Amino acid sequence: MTEQTSGQLKMEKIVALCKRRGLIFQSSEIYGGINGFWDYGPAGVAMRRAVEQLWWRYMVEQRDNVEGLDSTIICHPMVWKASGHLDQFSDLMVDCLDCKKRFREDQLETPGVCPGCGSKKMTEPREFNLMMKTFVGPVFDEEHVAWLRAETCQPIFVDFDQIRISSRQKLPFGIAQVGKAFRNEINPRFFTFRSREFTQMEMEFFCRDDESMKWYDYWHQERWAFYTKILGIPESRLKIHHHEKLAHYAKAALDIEFEFPFGWGEIEGVHHRGTWDMSRHSQFCGHELKYFDQERNEHYYPTVVETSCGLDRMCLALLCNAYDEDTAPTRKEGIEDDVRVVMHLPALVAPVQVAVLPLSKKLEDKAEPLFKDLRRCLRADYDVSGNIGKRYRRQDELGTPYCVTVDFETANDQAVTVRDRDAMTQERVALDKLAKFLLDKIQPVA
Ligand code: ATP
Repeated sequence: MTEQTSGQLKMEKIVALCKRRGLIFQSSEIYGGINGFWDYGPAGVAMRRAVEQLWWRYMVEQRDNVEGLDSTIICHPMVWKASGHLDQFSDLMVDCLDCKKRFREDQLETPGVCPGCGSKKMTEPREFNLMMKTFVGPVFDEEHVAWLRAETCQPIFVDFDQIRISSRQKLPFGIAQVGKAFRNEINPRFFTFRSREFTQMEMEFFCRDDESMKWYDYWHQERWAFYTKILGIPESRLKIHHHEKLAHYAKAALDIEFEFPFGWGEIEGVHHRGTWDMSRHSQFCGHELKYFDQERNEHYYPTVVETSCGLDRMCLALLCNAYDEDTAPTRKEGIEDDVRVVMHLPALVAPVQVAVLPLSKKLEDKAEPLFKDLRRCLRADYDVSGNIGKRYRRQDELGTPYCVTVDFETANDQAVTVRDRDAMTQERVALDKLAKFLLDKIQPVA
């Protein structure tokens, strides 16, 4: 099998698993779906929230010098004029006159040849703006046009002074926001990788220009550590792509890329944005947004270093990294089939962190209170149906790191068996030590 077809096959299996287990599926499916929009089901939303919370904790709550913001999706239209999105946020697209498909010009492997059908009848490149348009108020005319934000960072620049003053921060400090962004992507593809509605997690760090490269390096390292240490993605599946072509105001930019089954793809950008944002908003809003540095007795525009990632791409990277099929010794777990689909998700983000499985319905009196107790501090599930081997498989497929089996011995020895998804070991743990035993394994060290 070629690398491309095995990657395709793996991707198909991941997409099918996500649908089957209520992680991610097409939006509005009963109407045939809508291209580029995805819904997260019960398991998906549990995982997505956990990933978002990890990011927020790491980027905001554990730092003195980063504040949070939750702004509206629709802002004053001038925001997008100032940011340059209305004039420049476009992709150059070419159309195939034969198969009628549309492609981003910079993504054509062979310019002038349709990657869909091989035709050479391609149009000249044309600009397509990616901003999504709407109207505010009852009159649908050009005066009432507004835009769904294409990135979460612009309101951070707009609210910079509000936040700086109310939080009493001095430079250098950052502002972070998590929220929806919308882009009218011409070719949504690779599952959630390129969607038209997605969630961004961005942090804009405001600093003095002469210190900006130091901060750029710092955030580069911090973000790399987030993927490798907190999310547990192996370094071999990540790489840094340093941009050579830079915006005129930027000193540096890099992407953190992950090796998806369909190839390397960007999951995060770390960008030096110079003083562009603050100077542009100053110019367009008519107020001076320069920062007064008391120590230096000087007014200047803060330089911005940004970390920008997509929550959906991060979840997709985690799912792709976790997917595995192994031939675990299953017979002793009570089923014949020896290929096990298992998601090696980090316990911190697994939709279910512990599943309580009574061996028999007769044990529910003991198992149910245990489940209720565990779910006070962990994402827990309870399953009594089917043989124990099948129940383990269901949990493996969802990435549940620990299964707790209540058996006929439990009443005597006041203990349960804890099965580890990855090591496939089974350990007897006393009931009164169980919660601590699991929390010690699951909670982050820091
Ligand atoms: P690409 O080149 O893939 O279109 P970009 O360079 O336009 O991405 P940025 O504008 O830097 O991306 O956005 C920052 C992050 O937001 C990306 O690293 C990605 O994780 C996420 N993102 C951007 N566009 C999309 C999308 N259409 N669907 C899902 N996530 C996205």
